[in-house]
Amino acid sequence: MFGTKLKCLRCGKEYPLLTKYSCSKCGGILDVDYDYEAMKKKEIGSHLGTKKDEGMWKFRDFLPIKKKESIVTLREGGTPLFRCERLAELTSLADFYLKDETRNPTGSFKDRPTSCAISKAKEEGGNAVITSSTGNGGVAVATYAAKAGMKAIIIVPSTAPRNKLLSIVCSGALLVKIKGIYSDCFSLARELSREYGWVNLTSTFLNPFATEGDKTVAYELYRDLRLVPDWILVPVGAGPLLVGIYKGYKELKELELVDKLPAMIGVQAKGCAPIVRAFERGEREVRAWGTPHTIASGIADPLQGYSDDGSLTLKIIRESGGAAVAVDDESLVESVQNLSRLTGIFAEPTGASSVASLRELKKRGILKEKDTVVCMVTGSGFKDSHTIQKYVEIPPKELEPNLEEVREFLDQKLA
Ligand SMILES: *Cc1c(COP(=O)(O)O)cnc(C)c1O
Ligand SMILES: [Zn+2]
Repeated sequence: MFGTKLKCLRCGKEYPLLTKYSCSKCGGILDVDYDYEAMKKKEIGSHLGTKKDEGMWKFRDFLPIKKKESIVTLREGGTPLFRCERLAELTSLADFYLKDETRNPTGSFKDRPTSCAISKAKEEGGNAVITSSTGNGGVAVATYAAKAGMKAIIIVPSTAPRNKLLSIVCSGALLVKIKGIYSDCFSLARELSREYGWVNLTSTFLNPFATEGDKTVAYELYRDLRLVPDWILVPVGAGPLLVGIYKGYKELKELELVDKLPAMIGVQAKGCAPIVRAFERGEREVRAWGTPHTIASGIADPLQGYSDDGSLTLKIIRESGGAAVAVDDESLVESVQNLSRLTGIFAEPTGASSVASLRELKKRGILKEKDTVVCMVTGSGFKDSHTIQKYVEIPPKELEPNLEEVREFLDQKLA
């Protein structure tokens, strides 16, 4: 284990490597620090190159868990990277890839941060966890808590997709539905975690061990692609996935395995785009959004009460030479269908938002035809099918089990 300490990203104050949610001195976001010199000496990076796939914990040396027995895993990560020619044609990009995070155990990338943060909680002897979530994070925490035999309390807006709620309840977690927006859930979880001593796994930047799970995406991209992509497109709520991926690449550079860094593009929905708004206005601080209006429920995070999280993501986007862009619901629906038809990946609208932004980024001249582009497809459509059901018609006609009738129907359809 090469993790050494927690460090405040704002004032630099250091803390022991234990679950802690913000800097006691300045309230800043905490980040896990590693002994990169020692990693370099032991040639830890050389393990990254092999193809054998054991999921995210293959990168245990890069993660802050001491004992193997503490690891709570359902074999998350190790997701495929697909080259998608037919989708690439649509946007005329020559070197285009999708990182298919729908393949994670609960159907979203949230399994990565959850596995890491809950393992840390287990290592510290925790037996109950709480999270606030727009849906996927709640499913991940409920599922991993079930695996670990821990009590889980999941706080979600009552508008969260039904199938996500169903999965949370099936896992035996205590589901708390709030008549409000995600930010209300965030504040409640933070308060309840304090009062009851439950470990808070909320994957904004609150739990520093969650973001560590996100960074494993970078190691997998390095292993599968070798060359560093010019652009990585990431759907962002508060943005730990985007920041985590960039951190992973910075570590690879520190270990002298790559010599450049990717430019990070944050994608939000037009109906909830606090980070994009600040990016476009050239502001340094992100300000909270009002009430979200979008079918991309997974990124409907207005950041009320923790807009600093958005400011960190904005800073990383700028530092990387990237951009932030917003997409409307119509293009989300179109992208869900394009993904299904042209690549075989069934994504939820949030998960398809990276793909939905391609046309606009191309039009603005940000993406060039020859650039290497990776889109993160962050969540599966199977857990959010009610949303897409409103836009796609299932044929109402039912046929008799009769060859004549079926043939007639097919001839008519295929004509
Ligand atoms: C949570 C979530 C996001 C946003 O990720 P953050 O790192 O929390 O900003 C994107 N896509 C899906 C499907 C999600 O569930
Ligand atoms: Zn500080």
